[in-house]
Amino acid sequence: MSIQRIALSAANLQPRADYRVQKSVQNRNVSDFNCAEMSSAASLAIRNNYMSNISFKGINNDSANNTVGLKKSIKDLEDIKGKRALVRVDINVPLDENKNVTDDTRIQAIRPTIDYLKDKGAKIVLMAHLGRPKGQRNEEYSLKPVAEYMSDLFGEEVVFIPDIKDAPEMVANLKEGQIALLENIRFYKAEEAKNDDMTFAKELAQLGDFYVNDAFGAAHRNHTSTAKLAEVLKPAVSGLLMEKEIRCLSQALENPERPFTAVVGGSKVSSKIGVLENLLDKVDNLIIGGGMAYTFVKANGGEIGNSLCEDDQIDVARAIMKKAEEKGVNLIFDTDVLATDDFSGNGTTKIVKIDEIPEGFMGVDSGIESREKFANVLKSSKTILMNGPVGVFENPKFSKGTQSVLAAIVEATKNGATSVIGGGDSVAAAKQFQDADDFTHVSTGGGASLEFIEGKVLPGVDALDDI
Ligand code: AMP
Repeated sequence: MSIQRIALSAANLQPRADYRVQKSVQNRNVSDFNCAEMSSAASLAIRNNYMSNISFKGINNDSANNTVGLKKSIKDLEDIKGKRALVRVDINVPLDENKNVTDDTRIQAIRPTIDYLKDKGAKIVLMAHLGRPKGQRNEEYSLKPVAEYMSDLFGEEVVFIPDIKDAPEMVANLKEGQIALLENIRFYKAEEAKNDDMTFAKELAQLGDFYVNDAFGAAHRNHTSTAKLAEVLKPAVSGLLMEKEIRCLSQALENPERPFTAVVGGSKVSSKIGVLENLLDKVDNLIIGGGMAYTFVKANGGEIGNSLCEDDQIDVARAIMKKAEEKGVNLIFDTDVLATDDFSGNGTTKIVKIDEIPEGFMGVDSGIESREKFANVLKSSKTILMNGPVGVFENPKFSKGTQSVLAAIVEATKNGATSVIGGGDSVAAAKQFQDADDFTHVSTGGGASLEFIEGKVLPGVDALDDI
């Protein structure tokens, strides 16, 4: 069965007894990438009672005529030859002091969309931000070096538009398949303004015949170029990266092949409450590692020495453990950890039980027994989602736990599991210790993927046209 597109709109209205009631309606596009088999996604979705929210395009299915939540993508547009595509991208790339791009992952990630539009003969006008210039023109954050880098990379000039006032004329001069990049959209205060004024959106809309949002990394922002523009420039569709991000994340969350294991790590419980909460409704196993684990250990009366701990989150930790028990979720913590008396890595280290960390020592990585335990769970999982490292991986001396988790995820993926890495630090670790291609999907969005995993609606996705 060749299903071109499936949309899952999961109205996740379960009461959040412990914290908050959160209405979460997510719009997901599922197209012909190979994240998982579309037919299996459909059958699982049906099994999960999402049938009323699923739409199928390109197949004859009379019962599937509910189009709620189905978002258009550039592939749904016909006859775009010679038309101006106004495309929001996320090319917020790191630059060194000489303004050289030091990591072009985000540029590479939008190439499929650019190539597709070029191939169809559209004129491509890119909008993006770089850093946080806070509504002021500041050459420090100019996208000009990025336009130059892209010109070299693509082997053709990416026309740099230094100011919006120059844009109408420069865009009018574009030829079919040509690419232009507008100066940092955050130089304009109206981009991030928290009001309903659509003047800036209307000004931008003059530059395109249709709007494309391929900036998953900025989709959690309700900004002019990421969301408001979609109201005034139609059609408003997703790019290929956006589509892939949403499909892979939502398939993992909503249609997981089981067992489904999530690894949630990082430093703070407080920043991951929403993630833990939402995942407890979905996973079979939840590995809680890294600095945030110690708040849980303390909540259970363990000795954590000088390990990271948020005392004001102890009740939250207790509530999460209670909910896990009620839901039958297997909560997995380190049993042993690597502890040190010097966070810089120059002190004494020893492997100790996670709840018997001596005074003056702090847990900074998983211990040997824990690594094996985590790896075994991961290797027998069919769906894996990782958000946050299980140790201070930036220091090679404290990176073995995170390395071992990632290696186990890669092995599981090679054996057929679906793996999704979401969130800035996990993505950095995944790229540092493994080949990103060895995971099913490595998300390009930090905050956006976090909010997605929390079950929140992303304004940049929500604003796009339903089919
Ligand atoms: P987050 O931004 O909350 O995902 O946290 C990521 C950060 O958590 C990374 O910079 C890690 O170094 C840090 N981290 C992980 N484990 C620990 C730990 N045991 N103690 C302190 N920091 C940790």
